[in-house]
Amino acid sequence: MKASRKTNSERLYLGVDVGGTKVQASLVVESGGTIERRRCNTPRDGGPEEVLAAIEKTIDDVLAKARVEAADLTAIGIAVPGVVDPDAGLVVVAPNMNLTGVAVGSHLEDRFNVPIAFGNDCNLGALGEKWLGSARDAESVVAILVGTGIGGGFVQKGELWRGARESAGEIGHIVMQIGGPKCGCGNRGCFEALASRTAIERDIRQAIARGRKSLLSELTGGDLSVIRSGMLRRALDADDELVTEIIRRASQVIGYACLTVRHLIDPHVIVLGGGVLEACSDFMMPIVEGIVDSDCLPGARAGGRVLLSALGDDAVVLGAVAEARKLVGRSPFEKRFAVKPRYPQIVSADFGQITVDQKTYNRDVYIGVTGNVKKRSKTLAKELYGSSHSIGPKELEQVCQGGPEVLFVGSGHSGMVELIEEARRYLSQRAIKCEVLPTPKAVEAYNKSKQRKATLIHVTC
Ligand SMILES: [Zn+2]
Repeated sequence: MKASRKTNSERLYLGVDVGGTKVQASLVVESGGTIERRRCNTPRDGGPEEVLAAIEKTIDDVLAKARVEAADLTAIGIAVPGVVDPDAGLVVVAPNMNLTGVAVGSHLEDRFNVPIAFGNDCNLGALGEKWLGSARDAESVVAILVGTGIGGGFVQKGELWRGARESAGEIGHIVMQIGGPKCGCGNRGCFEALASRTAIERDIRQAIARGRKSLLSELTGGDLSVIRSGMLRRALDADDELVTEIIRRASQVIGYACLTVRHLIDPHVIVLGGGVLEACSDFMMPIVEGIVDSDCLPGARAGGRVLLSALGDDAVVLGAVAEARKLVGRSPFEKRFAVKPRYPQIVSADFGQITVDQKTYNRDVYIGVTGNVKKRSKTLAKELYGSSHSIGPKELEQVCQGGPEVLFVGSGHSGMVELIEEARRYLSQRAIKCEVLPTPKAVEAYNKSKQRKATLIHVTC
């Protein structure tokens, strides 16, 4: 069966994040909502042909899943780790994958017959955060993404700073410890060699090999070759001495890197992202903020916030879509092309039920940033806080997916529901405004608001 979505809705774009382990492709509408996504493993062995085939397959799969054809797309944005030549669609150097010297852009353009935008993954991640994430209101942003490696990007007034040789933003290779540990790039003591997930894992493994004890030996079942972010989180929660020490050290390095960025560029905001940081943010962020706030350089202290990514894994694909929109002359940063998602109208919300557009729900609901209505699961809150009247950060991860500018919370007619302190911190660290109001007032405020918004409405006890 074939159905063209283009005829009855917004323009469609495809964002592709080609990572060292996974290729992610998302089908995205012009207002930034993801309507379908697909992930495939990046082939470890084999040459560029295998990697290209994996990229093509991921794109074909997501199109098939959404019943859309390549001809329905306005443009495709591709993000690749490494140094790229965006104009030639060429990967100049990709240290972690078999794509060096490959003209990925022109190859895919021939294959799908659609304009292809092309860029470095972390650069595009910064662009994504500027478009729809924590930096949405900031004139300039530096994003620092801490993962297997550390990458970054600098966006000013909606434009990426590409550098003289298209290699700006390689913040992971700022040397922070002369003669320090060897980095993947060949230099010693790079930021990446001190604070990336790879560096954290290396330090833990070395310390355990020297006889230090850690809960991780148990959590990993003795196999320390893969240490997941969630395991680090659990070890921190259990006050594991070794993990606490190593993550504290990594957080300090990240803090000093933020300070360096501020002294060099003084961006309006710095956005931090990546698995370890997001999983361990309540431990790591106060350390980072403490270092940034204790800056002695006069005048450097005020303003310039350090925030967390509001888009998580989607920052790079959405940045690729932003770049694709720019390529076809429909930049999301130009007012006339700034498309807002279509939101439903909340018709009524009484005790025990809520009507959104034509549909009535006999329970709490939330409406995400793309306008989709979802039923609120109270189990999570009950498990964590003993009451469904508490909203914590875990629940906000779902409700605020896609980075709304503002969240309206209908706290019930008698105002029973409230955000716990960590939830408020979750929102402020992602620059998401929040209004908690008695349900009828929240409904009114939601219907009236013209911002990119989300809401959670409580109607049942
Ligand atoms: Zn390096």
